[in-house]
Amino acid sequence: MITAVKGTQDLLFPEVRRWQQLEAAARGLFERYGFGEIRTPLLEPTELFVRGIGDETDIVAKEMYTFQDRKGRSLTLRPENTAGVARAVVEHRLHDSPQHARLYYIGPQFRYERPQKGRYRQFHQMGIEILGEGAPGADAEGIAVAVDLLDAAGIPAATVQLNSVGCAECRPPYVALLKASLAPRVSELCGDCRRRLETNPLRTLDCKVPSCQPVLDAAPRLDEGLCAACADHHRAVREILDLLRISYRVRPRMVRGLDYYVRTVFEVTSEALGAQDALVGGGRYDGLLRALGGPDAAGFGWALGMERLLMAMPPLPGERLPRVYLAWSGAGTYARVLLLARELRAMGVAVLVEHQERSFKSALKRADRLNARWALLVGEEELESELYTLKDLASGGQQALAAADVAARVREEAP
Ligand SMILES: [Zn+2]
Ligand SMILES: [Zn+2]
Repeated sequence: MITAVKGTQDLLFPEVRRWQQLEAAARGLFERYGFGEIRTPLLEPTELFVRGIGDETDIVAKEMYTFQDRKGRSLTLRPENTAGVARAVVEHRLHDSPQHARLYYIGPQFRYERPQKGRYRQFHQMGIEILGEGAPGADAEGIAVAVDLLDAAGIPAATVQLNSVGCAECRPPYVALLKASLAPRVSELCGDCRRRLETNPLRTLDCKVPSCQPVLDAAPRLDEGLCAACADHHRAVREILDLLRISYRVRPRMVRGLDYYVRTVFEVTSEALGAQDALVGGGRYDGLLRALGGPDAAGFGWALGMERLLMAMPPLPGERLPRVYLAWSGAGTYARVLLLARELRAMGVAVLVEHQERSFKSALKRADRLNARWALLVGEEELESELYTLKDLASGGQQALAAADVAARVREEAP
């Protein structure tokens, strides 16, 4: 037996309905905020992620699905979508087109991680990118979209965690200060922190290892090292969030995993999933487009892991599909039933036709196994009168109705 690749999964009905529902809610919300969808390839040149995410990040260093194609080019299955969107923006010069300044995506991403509950190697993200808007209002509005989405999905107790990681002006002096302050206590730090101190000192700040906490707590604070422009931006973002009544917590040691962030970084966590793991993460990435050969344009975006969100989403009410199971008996009935099914579908009813002649008793058994909501029974008598027997499989009641009335009755209930 051939099984699915480790860390991937098949999404089956009715679970897939929850995905469709989340996607539909997200599309509606994104479009109300003026976003248009972009679909980029799953496969990109490896170089894109090395330049766009940074080769010191865990994603690029350890987690990418990278291989050579038949011509020896190094390709990678996208581990996230922002780099691909940024590449498309530069390639098609979308930064010159106000119509393309707000983009959203929904789709699979790939990371070679240890599979665990809610974490897959093929996983799904949805996210937004706001391009060319450097004003703090864009950050706050972007965060509002995430909050509204979790609200629409019924996620309880979502909290925004907020920080500023500074800019190219103020971060290097801060990082130098941080390194100098950690150097004398390096023996107290975990192995990851020691390594990061050499490769990416800022990332020591969000270490979760308990023994590192006293050392990191004593280190100089990132928010105290911000330049005036970054401090103003950070304050303005918070003021607009206050205005929008979006509650947040400033977490001065939160830095996020990706190298390209400047100023605002944020996460949204939910108590429903344990406050450690973020449902949404993102921030401002001015300079990313330039790093990919594009213009010096501002950018802000976030991504949300759909598997984890669906784990926290309340279940949908049970649904019966097909709506109507159409069974028949008697010579000459089948041809009429095929036409009747088309007629009903044209009136917006989901119908499954039985292709074998069966006794109504056996037809009802089959309808039950199919989990149908209704059975429509057509015999020679019904054919004659054009009144069909619609049986409610939940209550057991039945009525004789003309085709249009069958459709109206079935449609009365929202699917
Ligand atoms: Zn700054
Ligand atoms: Zn550590």
